[in-house]
Amino acid sequence: MTPESILKTTFGYDTFRPLQREIIENVLTRRDSLAIMPTGGGKSLCYQIPALLFDGLTVVVSPLIALMKDQVEQMRAAGVPALFINSTLSPEAYNENMDYVRRGQVKLLYVAPETLLTPRILGLLSELKVDCLTIDEAHCISEWGHDFRPEYRQLADVRRRYPEAVCLALTATATPRVRTDITRSLGFKASNEFVASFNRENLFIEVAPKRDAEIQLTRFLERFKDQSGIIYCFSRRQVDELSDYLERRGYVVRPYHAGLDDDTRRRNQEAFIRDDVQIMVATIAFGMGINKPNVRFIVHFDLPKSIEGYYQEIGRAGRDGLPAHCLLLYSYGDVAKLRYFIDQKEGDERKAAVQQLDAIVRYAEDERNCRRKPLLAYFGEKFPAEKCDNCDNCNAEAPILEDITIPAQKFLSCVVRTGERFGAGHVADVLLGSKNERVLRLGHDQVSTYGIGKELTQKQWMHLARQLSQMGYLNQDGEYRTLSLTDSARAALKSRAKIFGQLQEVEERAKKKDNKKELEYNHALFALLRAKRKELADADGVPPYVIFSDRTLVEMAAYYPQSKESLLGISGVGQVKLEKFGGLFLEVIAPYCKKHKIAEKARETAPARRKKAAKSAESGLGTRTTLIGEAYNDGASVKDLMERYQVTVGTVIDHLTRYALAGSRLRNGEDFQSLTSTSPEDQQAALAAFEELGAEYLKPVFDKLGGRINYDELKILRLCHLAR
Ligand code: ADP
Ligand code: ZN
Repeated sequence: MTPESILKTTFGYDTFRPLQREIIENVLTRRDSLAIMPTGGGKSLCYQIPALLFDGLTVVVSPLIALMKDQVEQMRAAGVPALFINSTLSPEAYNENMDYVRRGQVKLLYVAPETLLTPRILGLLSELKVDCLTIDEAHCISEWGHDFRPEYRQLADVRRRYPEAVCLALTATATPRVRTDITRSLGFKASNEFVASFNRENLFIEVAPKRDAEIQLTRFLERFKDQSGIIYCFSRRQVDELSDYLERRGYVVRPYHAGLDDDTRRRNQEAFIRDDVQIMVATIAFGMGINKPNVRFIVHFDLPKSIEGYYQEIGRAGRDGLPAHCLLLYSYGDVAKLRYFIDQKEGDERKAAVQQLDAIVRYAEDERNCRRKPLLAYFGEKFPAEKCDNCDNCNAEAPILEDITIPAQKFLSCVVRTGERFGAGHVADVLLGSKNERVLRLGHDQVSTYGIGKELTQKQWMHLARQLSQMGYLNQDGEYRTLSLTDSARAALKSRAKIFGQLQEVEERAKKKDNKKELEYNHALFALLRAKRKELADADGVPPYVIFSDRTLVEMAAYYPQSKESLLGISGVGQVKLEKFGGLFLEVIAPYCKKHKIAEKARETAPARRKKAAKSAESGLGTRTTLIGEAYNDGASVKDLMERYQVTVGTVIDHLTRYALAGSRLRNGEDFQSLTSTSPEDQQAALAAFEELGAEYLKPVFDKLGGRINYDELKILRLCHLAR
């Protein structure tokens, strides 16, 4: 057995994620290792695969008791003998599990740190061969981490008791101080550190100005029907109000915050994990202990306090590697709210909080640069490209810029006239000729720029100020975010250089076409597979993802496997799951395919898929057009295609037309004529016209027929012509 063969036969995966192979190799050669990977990076496999290759036992220490059961269930579903021992077990179950371990029937043992430190467990382990000691959430060992646990300090002693065992420490916390703390406490050699990239490619990152927050939110949610997501709010009250609001609108939601009793919290979390509830509205108290891989969206309804927290929260989306969407709603009002709380703090703590807030404000206000750059820079990582193509700024059509030289000059001068000691709000007040108390008290109604900017609104001036900072003309400093001019602003004023920007804050930024090539799949079949999964999960009392991940169901709904052999080719289907569940899912797929005349498709490997996508991009055809064209030629009817891709008849006609115009033959079978209401004589005339004038353009044919047949009808007739 090799790591690769276990990856495929037990876990059903084709390839390792970055660094997994290297870490596993290192552990197998018994070198202590520290692995730092973002949430969803695939840390678990790094000890699970060695555990199956070692003779003896692998002990996994984790502080997240709530997660242990979940992890053990996932392992057992894949056929790995795993158990956990912690304080939640009844005395009988505890003893029973001890016996299993003693008899050597277990490969993986999960324990809480305080459990591991008890004489009973230490005694048990001293009778056995421990090959690997895994320390999950290893940042808990550091007092500098956000989650210090004193018991973790004693793990170094435990480790010394098993000098033969290799030690693997895992964490998603990347700060250098925590990192050195871990390796020093555990006595590791520095050469055995593995740091994966923190870039999560599958997350779409977006920040939108917050206006009618509830309406913006419901509009966003419409795109995620039946899909899981988390909405983070600032306060408990906000959580309660928003979850009520959504509930009244028919969403299946639950609240989660520290003000609810333990039992309610646990029940709400469980319902979310089991797909009984679609949306969790929560404070940041929610998320640590959940492992749910199919969270499809994260909304920050209020501004987070720091970039670090924000990144951790959005990291809970899309652990399964499928696309997920992260939306932050930003308003300056939220900044003021946070400032109010920060002002209750003192000294260094206050200073640190102000800096963190500044960083996230700068991030949220940036409308030009790729979002990934500042986020990754925060973790000491440089994003290697100019654009990522998966954030709002990279995907926005270039905005239409206008000449804003005059207002920019007014604003910059007013910053100077008022002494470069004020924030944007005050400068705007002066420009607008406000008579508010502060303006008058400071005598700013006497400066030469007073009242010279009435052509713009307060909001527009604020927007302009943000752009001027982003362009490097203004510095924003200190806790009051006072503005001062940079050298380049002084130079620009002097040379009267033209400045371009936007005066109107854009409502919805124009988005470029989504060019991510994702696997196309049959949504109707996916829904059936999901229902089957839920039924099996409820029967077993486990979360649905223990049975199969969304990724696995998506592949089933894309390749239509109809035998156990083909099922085994699907990502996430290992030998044991195939035996346990394979037949049950085939019973869903086979009749569906029969009814809709769909044939099984060969599953392409990822590189082949990319090549094909590139090729269809070259021919100018989208993947969807190719898929629909091929499906039609495989025997699917127009009606089948409408259902399979959840599109209108017009869209199917468009795709098939494009497919045919690109040079592919269309099967001669479907009666496209049945779709038209044009008289037989006119049909004949139109077909003759297409024959004569070609099918590329409709206008010549329309004209030739004297406009008798409208364009929608002509599109159908063109397809009749192409399919002849
Ligand atoms: P982490 O602990 O780093 O947050 P997990 O170990 O929970 O991440 O893995 C996240 C998800 O990715 C899990 O659903 C896991 O099964 C899946 N996964 C891990 N490694 C691979 C791989 N090589 N190929 C496909 N999926 C993987
Ligand atoms: Zn980007």
